[in-house]
Amino acid sequence: MSSEIIEAEQSGKVQEIINEYEKKIFDLQQLLEICRSLCSTLEFSTLIESILYTCMGQFHVLGAGLFVLNALDADSFHLDSNYKGIDLAPNISYVIPTSNPIVPLLENSSKLYTANELIHMLPAGTNISMITSLNPSLIIPLTQHNHLNGILLLGERITLADDASYTDYEKEQLTVIASLGSIAINNAALLERSSTDMMTHLKLKYFFYNVLTDKLDYAISTDGDLSVIMFDIDFFKNFNDTYGHACGDYVLQTVAKIIKSSIRGQDLASRYGGEEFTVLLNETRSEDAMIVAERIRSKVEQFDFCYEDRHVKVTISLGVATFNINDNPVNSPKMLVDQADRALYVSKRSGRNCVTFADAKLISDIKLDN
Ligand code: GH3
Ligand code: MG
Ligand code: MG
Repeated sequence: MSSEIIEAEQSGKVQEIINEYEKKIFDLQQLLEICRSLCSTLEFSTLIESILYTCMGQFHVLGAGLFVLNALDADSFHLDSNYKGIDLAPNISYVIPTSNPIVPLLENSSKLYTANELIHMLPAGTNISMITSLNPSLIIPLTQHNHLNGILLLGERITLADDASYTDYEKEQLTVIASLGSIAINNAALLERSSTDMMTHLKLKYFFYNVLTDKLDYAISTDGDLSVIMFDIDFFKNFNDTYGHACGDYVLQTVAKIIKSSIRGQDLASRYGGEEFTVLLNETRSEDAMIVAERIRSKVEQFDFCYEDRHVKVTISLGVATFNINDNPVNSPKMLVDQADRALYVSKRSGRNCVTFADAKLISDIKLDN
C-alpha cells in the first residue's frame, strides 16, 4: 500500500482522495472528448465555436472570445465574430497587428495572464484596449512551435466562492485545451491556405469540385435544387496586351471582390482557371440563380475599374446550369459544370456581356454531341 494511502487512512482522508481522483478521471475523459471534437473539424467557424463553448462550460465563464491570426495574410489577429457572451465596445477596433508588443510577449512565454499582469509586462503606452475593454478574467495564448496563432480571452467567472481566480490545476487544464485548440486552428489554416487562390482569395477549382460533389449528393437525396454559374472575362487578353499584366491582375482581383460582394455566405465562389470563375449556389432554383448571375454581370459592367489613373471597361459572359430531379437530373458534378460552360460559350457567341441558361434544348444538344 502506498505511503500516501496509509497516511490518508490514518488521518481519515481517504474519501477526500477518492473524490479528488474521481474528479481527475472525469476531467481526463472530458479532455479526450474535447480532443476528439477539436480534431474532427477543419471548418474555421465550427472549430472556434467549439473552443469557446468548451472553455465556457469547463471553467464556468459567462463569455469567451478568440482573436485568430488571419490565415491568408498573417499580419494581424482578428476577433471578427469569434466571441460568445461578451459585449464589444463601440469605437474600438478588435484587431491586434502582429507588430503589437503583446504578440512576442505571448508567443515567447506561452503563459496565462490576467489583464493586469499583461499591462505590467508590456512597454508603457502599448495599446491593448481591444483586450482590456472586454474585461477578461484570463488571457491564454494559443501557440504551436513557438508560433502564436490565437489569443483566447475568458470572460467573467460564475463562482460561489469569494475568490474567482483560477487554480494551478485549472490553468494546467486550460494550457492543454489551448494547445489542442492551437493544433486544430493550425490545421484549419493550412487547409484554408492550400485551397485558396492567393491572388483573388477565391477558392481553387479542386476545392470547388469537392464541395459541389457533397452538395449535389445532398440535392439528389433531398430532391433539392442546386445551381452553378460559370463566367469568363470578355477580351481579357486585351488588358494584358494593352495595359500590361499588372493591370490584368488588378482586373482579376476586382472582379473577384465584386463576385464575393454579390453572393451569400453559404455560396462558394472559385477561380476556376485563368480568367474563369464559378459560383456554386446551394439550394437555389434556376430563376434565382439567373437573378444572381445578372446581378454580377451588371455590377461588373457598371464598376469603374481604374488602374494607374486609367479607366477601363470590363464585361463578363456567363452560363448558368441548375440541377433539378425533374428538369435536369445530372448525376455527376462534371456534367453540371459542362452544361454551365456550354451556356457560357453561347453567351460568348451571342455577343458577350450576357447570361445564358442551360435549358432543355441546350442540354439535349450537349447529349447529341457526346
Ligand atoms: P474571350 O472574350 O473570348 O474570353 O477572350 P479572352 O481574351 O478573354 O480569352 P483568352 O482565352 O484568349 O485570354 C485569356 C487570357 O487570360 C490569356 C492569359 O494570358 C490571361 N491570364 C490568365 N491568367 C492570368 C493571370 O493570372 N493574370 C493575368 N494578368 N492574365 C492572366
Ligand atoms: Mg477564358
Ligand atoms: Mg475571356
